[in-house]
Amino acid sequence: MIVFRNVNKYYGTFHVLKDINLEVNKGEVVVIIGPSGSGKSTMLRCINRLEAITSGELLVNGVKVHDKHTNVNELRRNIGMVFQHFNLYPHKTVLQNITLAPIKVLGQSKEEAEKTAIYYLEKVGIPDKAHAYPSQLSGGQQQRVAIARGLAMKPSIMLFDEPTSALDPEMIGEVLDVMKSLAREGMTMVVVTHEMGFAREVANRIVFMDEGRIIEEGEPTQFFANPKEERTREFLGKVL
Ligand code: ADP
Ligand code: MG
Repeated sequence: MIVFRNVNKYYGTFHVLKDINLEVNKGEVVVIIGPSGSGKSTMLRCINRLEAITSGELLVNGVKVHDKHTNVNELRRNIGMVFQHFNLYPHKTVLQNITLAPIKVLGQSKEEAEKTAIYYLEKVGIPDKAHAYPSQLSGGQQQRVAIARGLAMKPSIMLFDEPTSALDPEMIGEVLDVMKSLAREGMTMVVVTHEMGFAREVANRIVFMDEGRIIEEGEPTQFFANPKEERTREFLGKVL
């Protein structure tokens, strides 16, 4: 579903992604870990063309993401993204936050969009918050709204960029639980996270990045028990 082939990216003269090769199959959960500044967010943002690439090729469902003929809106419709800072519209209710894109982009009626929104709010466990404003919710609840908002577009891929990093510790679990159930239902997911427990339990594959390169990847049990590269061992020594 997602293919990186020899992808390189520069910010000016800074080589941020170095020869990235990666494939994500349908229904797979790939967790990307690595030190701050290693290029994890940049890599995610290339997938929905929030960032340009300098060379190589990136395909999503067979479509060349960075081809000038590719319809970016259509591409992004199919890829949900959840950020560290929930990025909800503060002056809109939860329901309005979730229904905005389905109405505007998918052309759904208000009734249809609201029905879908309630369905996903139930899924993330906060149907009672439909008429609340983001400021009236906890961080964990806001992040669950952000996930529901992504799902309401019925994407085939969900990208998560450190979705629990801004949360108080007691709220991390409720967001990870929603992500776990999504994974169980077969959603294709690419997740940048420092939550090693989640990675171990949910990932089909762990990808370790450092200084713009994929240093090593592997199935979680093997990856954590027996990392091949010195840099991976060093990193895991710090975070585990
Ligand atoms: P990570 O998510 O792994 O912390 P990022 O992808 O955010 O890493 O950043 C990788 C590197 O690229 C960092 O050194 C960061 O400072 C740099 N960087 C990120 N965004 C930009 C940008 N828009 N312009 C220039 N440099 C950037
Ligand atoms: Mg980042």
